[in-house]
Amino acid sequence: MLRFGRYVRAANVEDALEVLRFRKGAQVMGGGMWMRLSDRTVPCVIDLSDCGLDKIEETEDEYRIGAYVTLRDLECAADFNYRTGNVLNAAVHDIVGVQFRQLATVGGSVFGRFGFSDVICALLALDSEVELVGAGRVPLATFIDMPYELDVLTHVIVKKHDYQASYQCLRKAATDFSTINVCAARWDGTWHVAVGSRPAKARLLAGEALGVSSAEPTADEIARAVEAVRGLAYSSNMWGSERYRRHLAGALTARSIVQAARYASTEAYQAALAACTREEAIR
Ligand SMILES: Cc1cc2nc3c(=O)[nH]c(=O)nc-3n(C[C@H](O)[C@H](O)[C@H](O)COP(=O)(O)OP(=O)(O)OC[C@H]3O[C@@H](n4cnc5c(N)ncnc54)[C@H](O)[C@@H]3O)c2cc1C
Repeated sequence: MLRFGRYVRAANVEDALEVLRFRKGAQVMGGGMWMRLSDRTVPCVIDLSDCGLDKIEETEDEYRIGAYVTLRDLECAADFNYRTGNVLNAAVHDIVGVQFRQLATVGGSVFGRFGFSDVICALLALDSEVELVGAGRVPLATFIDMPYELDVLTHVIVKKHDYQASYQCLRKAATDFSTINVCAARWDGTWHVAVGSRPAKARLLAGEALGVSSAEPTADEIARAVEAVRGLAYSSNMWGSERYRRHLAGALTARSIVQAARYASTEAYQAALAACTREEAIR
């Protein structure tokens, strides 16, 4: 059972950071859905409920997702999902169940930097940053490799672009962790592919490293992207072997690129689909 020595309801995020840094063993709590799995006493738990972090705000250039926005809020945020290729809705709607998603937060999901995270994989392919009280604004791709410092995550920021995007994952059973997850997004004329649950943390490939440049990727370009993604490191655990993950990562990359792209002609779409089917075949 999870127990707390002290409970602090911070009035603002600066106070929360001060408590976090000066009270030994203090921890911020999001929805507590991950924390509650451990059997220990947290000497001091910090609640951010009074810090106004439970909203998705929109400015001219970006969406600012508060750390206390729940996964269910994110799933149901119609305008945000519409403008970002629906990838966050697709990434979270199979996480456990609605009651769970009503509690699990975006802040806990991103700060935790779990390798299996569907949330991080989807955000990574978009133009995303995190905002921390101490470290300020940091690109998500940088943040996921940063050491676990004592800091308070206040927002996840998704910059506005004309996104073409698609999220794909494979779960051995509904609501299980993803064996592999992939998100492809094209914005500012560049393709981005994030691959997570390798099972290590998600990795992002973009531009030349991915080998896809056109708005309507050809069979050759899709094959290059698949090869690039299959060149990442994978390993085995109870959700899948290294070899299976490598294969799936390629297949889901092809599928997500084809679904995200807007093909102008049926012939171009069919050629891309045929390439996709070739990558799905087990050799
Ligand atoms: C059974 C189960 C199945 C799951 N399946 C999936 C899945 O399929 N896909 C998926 O993507 N995720 C999955 N998750 C993860 C889940 O979606 C949440 O990411 C996770 O529960 C953390 O969110 P939380 O709000 O509960 O955070 P908490 O448990 O409250 O916190 C997690 C960690 O983040 C820290 N933290 C929280 N908020 C902040 C903040 N604002 N600033 C700084 N630190 C903070 C906490 O101190 C703690 O270390 C699963 C979790 C469980 C328990």
